[in-house]
Amino acid sequence: MAKILSRHSTSEGTVVWSRCDCGRLHMVLVPYDTARRPLTAGTCPACAAG
Ligand SMILES: [Zn+2]
Repeated sequence: MAKILSRHSTSEGTVVWSRCDCGRLHMVLVPYDTARRPLTAGTCPACAAG
């Protein structure tokens, strides 16, 4: 389970930084417009699958 490091609002939506169990950083942008899907960066396939 990833640990949330920080969370802040931008003009686009809420940006959440988390650190994965494997040690990699993940950034997720959750748009205010709920019709849009969250944008992720740095997702590692191994952990995303779990
Ligand atoms: Zn990972």
